[in-house]
Amino acid sequence: MANISEKLNEEYNIQVKEELESGYIYLAMSAWFAERTLNNLAAWFHKQAEEEFVHAMKFVNYILDTGGKVEYAELKKPKGDFNNILEILEAAYEHEKYITSRIHHLYEVANELKEYSAFPMLHWFLDEQIEEEEQTAALIDLYKGYVNDFNFDHHIKREE
Ligand code: MG
Repeated sequence: MANISEKLNEEYNIQVKEELESGYIYLAMSAWFAERTLNNLAAWFHKQAEEEFVHAMKFVNYILDTGGKVEYAELKKPKGDFNNILEILEAAYEHEKYITSRIHHLYEVANELKEYSAFPMLHWFLDEQIEEEEQTAALIDLYKGYVNDFNFDHHIKREE
């Protein structure tokens, strides 16, 4: 008899796919940067992708540890064409907000089912999502700061 309910098992398999797709999305973004020799950004997104695979394995291990059944689903093709850096950063931020909503959903399901054993790992993910959203938002702010600084610099030149 499994210690994970069928319903949570099903939801966790969906989440495994979501996390793997997150990794896939970030790999595509990493490639976009690498193609333009923006190597630090390429590395940053590659590292994000690696973290997503770790996230996926956390759900996989929970399913296995509780006697459930792992089912890997087909992954969606990630978007590979972007117009600019900001578009990528904003897409990454929106994606992390979506993943946070997924974790909230899993928490609600576990709570409704009184599946308290699921809580510690979901708490870890709640903390992790705060970090994921914060660091992506910080990157957007940083980027916008650079754009403004550049405009400011040009403005100063015209004033001379
Ligand atoms: Mg994740």
